[in-house]
Amino acid sequence: MLYKSTRNNNLKVTASEAIARGISEEGGLFVPEYFPSVRDKLSYLRKLDYISLSKEILSLYLTDYTKEEIGECAEKAYETSKFSGEQVRLHEVENEDGIYSLELWHGPTCAFKDMALQILPHLLTKAFKKQADGKKAVILVATSGDTGKAALEGFKDVENTQIIVFYPENGVSPMQLRQMNTQEGENVCVCAVKGNFDDCQTQVKRIFTSPELKVKLSENNMLFSSANSINWGRLLPQIVYYFYAYFRFLDRMGVEDEEEAINIVVPTGNFGNILAAYYAKMMGLPVNKFICASNSNNVLTDFINTGKYDKQRKFYTTISPSMDILVSSNLERLLYHLTDGNDKKTAEWMKALNEKGEYTVDAIVANKVKELFAAYCCGEADTSKTINSCFENSAYLIDTHTAVAFKAINDYREENDDYTPAVIASTASPYKFSKSVLSAISDFESDDEFVLVEKLSEVSGLEVPKSLKALKEKKTRFTNVCDRESIASFVLDTLGIEG
Ligand SMILES: *Cc1c(COP(=O)(O)O)cnc(C)c1O
Repeated sequence: MLYKSTRNNNLKVTASEAIARGISEEGGLFVPEYFPSVRDKLSYLRKLDYISLSKEILSLYLTDYTKEEIGECAEKAYETSKFSGEQVRLHEVENEDGIYSLELWHGPTCAFKDMALQILPHLLTKAFKKQADGKKAVILVATSGDTGKAALEGFKDVENTQIIVFYPENGVSPMQLRQMNTQEGENVCVCAVKGNFDDCQTQVKRIFTSPELKVKLSENNMLFSSANSINWGRLLPQIVYYFYAYFRFLDRMGVEDEEEAINIVVPTGNFGNILAAYYAKMMGLPVNKFICASNSNNVLTDFINTGKYDKQRKFYTTISPSMDILVSSNLERLLYHLTDGNDKKTAEWMKALNEKGEYTVDAIVANKVKELFAAYCCGEADTSKTINSCFENSAYLIDTHTAVAFKAINDYREENDDYTPAVIASTASPYKFSKSVLSAISDFESDDEFVLVEKLSEVSGLEVPKSLKALKEKKTRFTNVCDRESIASFVLDTLGIEG
C-alpha cells in the first residue's frame, strides 16, 4: 500500500514515510492509493476485541510495518488499564428511537482524541526508525483544546521526541487549560497564542513546509512531524472504532448477519473524525448517511448544502471550543477522493481558499457530497437545551460537543423522516466542560472549576474521571504566551536552535 499526496499524484510514499512526514512538502495531505475491502470479513472481525480489531485494520494500511510492530503499537496504546475497561462503549440512549452514543472518551485525557493519540507516538517512533534513523522527532501541535492535551499525554517522555503545543489564548475551556499547563514530562512545552485556532494551525502548517526551517532542524539532527489530524497516523486508528461500534450495535440488536445499515453522526471540527467514518464505509461498513454537525462556526454546513466553501465569516468562540474552526483541513482529502484523485483540482481549490478565502466545487462533486452527507448546525442556546433535554428525558449526561450532534440527528430525522439507527460519536466527557454542562441542567454557579466538577457529579450521579480529579493538586508548569508572528522563533528557542 502506497500513499499519494492530494496535491501531487506523482508523489508516492510508504506508510511509514507518510506518518513520519505528517504533511507533504507541497502542502498536500497523504491518502491511501485504494481502500481495502473487509466486506467479506465482517463476521470474522465482529468476534475480535478492540486491540485485535485494531491490529487487523491497521495491518491493511501499514504494509511496511511488521505484524509484530503493529501488535506492539496497538497493545501499548489500548491497554485496558489506561481506559478503565472497554476502550470505547456504545450506550443505547433511553426513550429515543434507535439512537446510540459511541463514547470515545474513556481514555487518559477524557476526549476522543486519545483513541488516535495514544497510538500515534508508537507508530511515529517506528516510522522515524525506518525513515530518519537517529533523528529526533519534533512534534508541533496546533490545538483547539483537546488535541493538545491528548498529544502531550501520548508523547510525554517518549524517547527521541520533543513536543510543542500551541493553543488560542482565549479559546480553550478552563479544564483544558489546566490539563495542558500542568502537563508533566521532560520533552513537552505549551504556549498560548494571541489569535484563534485557525491562526495557530496556519502558522504551524507554514513552519512544517518552510524549507529554511527544515534545513535548520536537519543541521541539528531533528525533523518536524505533526500530531494534528492531517497526519495519516491520526486518522487511521479512528477507522477502527466505527467498525467496533457497528458490531456492538448488531450484538445489542441480536442481529446475526452484517447487512443492516446505520447512520453516523459526528460533531465536526477539522473533519478528521467524520472522514474516518467515511473511510470505514469505503472499506465495506454499511453506512447510509453521514451527518455532519457543526456549532455556530457553520462553514461545513454551508459547504455540504451548497458546494461553496467560504471561510470569510465571523469566527465564534463557543461552548464547544474543539469545533471552533473555519478551515477544516481534512475536507481536502474528501475532495480528492470525490474527484477520483484529481490532484490538480484539489490543489486549485486549496489555493483559492488560501488566497481568496473561498472556493466552489463542480456540480458533480457537490452532488456526491450531498448524497453522502447531511449537515446541520446548532447555536449556543440549542446546545444547552439539548444537554438539558437529553438529561431530563434519557437520564444521559452529554458534553457540549456531543450535544451539537444530538441536535443534528433530531433535525435530520425531522426533516428527512429517516429513522435508520444512528450512532453518534460522543467526543468528550461532560466533565471537561463542567461549567457549560452544569449550567444547562441546574442554576448552580461558581468560578472554581473543581467546585463545578463536584457539583456536576452530585447532580448527575456520574463519577468524576480520576485524571481530571487529580489536576486539582497539580502545579502549573507553563505560562508562555506569544504572537502569531513569533511562533516560529518560539519553536527555535525551545529547541535551542539559533534563529
Ligand atoms: C477534536 C474534537 C472534535 C472535532 O473532531 P474533528 O476530527 O476535528 O472533526 C469534536 N469534539 C471534541 C470534543 C473534540 O475534541
